[in-house]
Amino acid sequence: MLKFNKAMVGAALTFMTTNMMANNTTDKDFNYVVDRFSDIEVLRYKVPGFEELSLNQKKLVYYLTEAAISGRDILWDQNGRYNLALRRLLENIYTGYSGDRRSDDFKAFEKYLKQVWFGNGVHHHYSMDKFTPEFSREFFDAQVKALPADKVPADIDVLARLIFDPSFMAKKVNQAEGADLIATSASNLYENVTQKEVEDYYAAIKDNTDQTPISYGLNARVAKVNGKVVEQTYKIGGLYSNAISRIVENLKMASAYAENDRQRAVINKLIEYYTTGDLKAFDDYSILWVGDADSQVDFINGFIESYDDPLGMTGNWESIVNFKNLDASHRTEVISGNAQWFENNSPVDPRFRKDKVKGVSAKVITAAILAGDAYPATPIGINLPNANWIRAAHGSKSVTIENITQAYDEASHGNGFNEEFVPDSSMRALMDDYLFITDNLHTDLHECLGHGSGRLLPGVDPDALKAHGSTLEEARADLFALYYLADPKLIELGLIDSPEAYKAQYYKYILNGLMTQLMRIEPGKDVEEAHMRNRKLIAEWALEKGAPEKVIELYTENGKTYIRINDYERLRQLFGQLLGEIQRIKSEGDYEAGRDLVEGYAVKVDPKLHREVLDRYSHLTIAPYRGFVNPVYRPVFDADKNEIVDVAVEYNEGYADQMLRYSRQYSTLSK
Ligand code: ZN
Repeated sequence: MLKFNKAMVGAALTFMTTNMMANNTTDKDFNYVVDRFSDIEVLRYKVPGFEELSLNQKKLVYYLTEAAISGRDILWDQNGRYNLALRRLLENIYTGYSGDRRSDDFKAFEKYLKQVWFGNGVHHHYSMDKFTPEFSREFFDAQVKALPADKVPADIDVLARLIFDPSFMAKKVNQAEGADLIATSASNLYENVTQKEVEDYYAAIKDNTDQTPISYGLNARVAKVNGKVVEQTYKIGGLYSNAISRIVENLKMASAYAENDRQRAVINKLIEYYTTGDLKAFDDYSILWVGDADSQVDFINGFIESYDDPLGMTGNWESIVNFKNLDASHRTEVISGNAQWFENNSPVDPRFRKDKVKGVSAKVITAAILAGDAYPATPIGINLPNANWIRAAHGSKSVTIENITQAYDEASHGNGFNEEFVPDSSMRALMDDYLFITDNLHTDLHECLGHGSGRLLPGVDPDALKAHGSTLEEARADLFALYYLADPKLIELGLIDSPEAYKAQYYKYILNGLMTQLMRIEPGKDVEEAHMRNRKLIAEWALEKGAPEKVIELYTENGKTYIRINDYERLRQLFGQLLGEIQRIKSEGDYEAGRDLVEGYAVKVDPKLHREVLDRYSHLTIAPYRGFVNPVYRPVFDADKNEIVDVAVEYNEGYADQMLRYSRQYSTLSK
């Protein structure tokens, strides 16, 4: 599972701002924003710590990044059978164009190509809708005519229809109930089969008594060939053979530089899986991978998430190469190592505390490359493997990609959001200094301690809170984090250096819960999503309970609503009080009290305030979706040019430049 919904990331993190750098350098000269078009902003990210890796680790990372980019064409083809031909055509027109590059038609054409690059095909990565060209058919026809004959594809009529006919392959994935989901989806995971034929095919081969089932269909297209339904397996010698061969070549190079035997076994098992297509080998690989906790360098490379399969079986190809961020991982280890202290001092009834509590040690990583389904739009965390029985028997790896969240954060400087919603310049300065670190600490406390704290009274049904369970559970973990963010213990543990830092997080949390998160709700709708409900519950409850002492105030100036927090220490007490109550509700399974909290504070939106937030947000030019270009890794050779003596990392490549270079150097499935 991706840890966070890709689309939400842009919106959720736009608010964060910081000067806190993982490598303690100021960052004024680093240009995070690379490109902006349509509803997209393209950023770049830094790879702090890469220089400190050993030469062997750098070589390992280098070959794994090559293995990552080598799979690029696979996802393009999975996303639609004409995507690679379309990309080639558009790029030929783009690079060969001799007319005025500032003309409206060319600019519209360029925008369209940038959208297609971002979608890894002709559909939007999130909405799944086909892009709409804003250049004319005449312009397109003239450009095709101007191409050399050998660059005009044989299926030019189909490609023209793909671009200009809105009804043709309109949606990448159709999830609407009632229709044949395969027939009405444009993705290329099935060929010439009906939904029923696919379902019958798998029903016939699945063994439902198997306690350790393979992930059926994960690495195959299902097609009808000569009247027979068959799986076309993605493997060397099967579908996508050229791309997979090149991935495997680079994995073999990487294997030579593995940090230890276990990691080498992981890489070799993956090679075996790509060579045979055997899903049992993939399960063995996943078990080895989840058990490799010692290596600093890590990666995923394969057919992983199946959100884009209308039947939820076939995995989109993706790769992320990363290495452990030792400083940040130290932070979560310190928190987990002190789990019992936090439990013993929490503001809940001692009857509901755990006698023995164990913190979860979350790993923080630095991404070195993003590829396939993780590029350009990317998750900020990973939680794998997906097979339930492997998770149950062998556990899972859950990681946060901190250099990606940091890039989101840095890029949000100067987007106008803080100026619009935070009128007090000293609070804006405090946020600049401490929001990034307190956001990270909030996440650490929430994940490592919050969810694991507390206990049910004997005999209480863990599902007693029913539909409100997840909102209340998220609120409990958030309140645990909020309460402790203000605790001097964090300074004592060396996790933060200022007793004021928590105020930045408190202000942001209340502002978000009361107001700014409403920008993600459509007019007239209630708050539905559990995390959003939890934030609203906490903020609204604190506003109401603190009202007699004016702990939090909502006030208007020039027709705009703002918040003011008058008493931070009292606010902390209120958080502690609500934590105590929600823990009681959970420990006793008090459904009615839980329901009253959620329904009373978390669901209904004030339509006037909602309209105001949407209006103010619409005047800021914040892109709803964001993604990344990768750094460039350049091997440095010795004088004889046969041995790599270093790997340099460079951050100077633009968006179109990167896409065109990838097409030149890594077109494994298109000629
Ligand atoms: Zn949570």
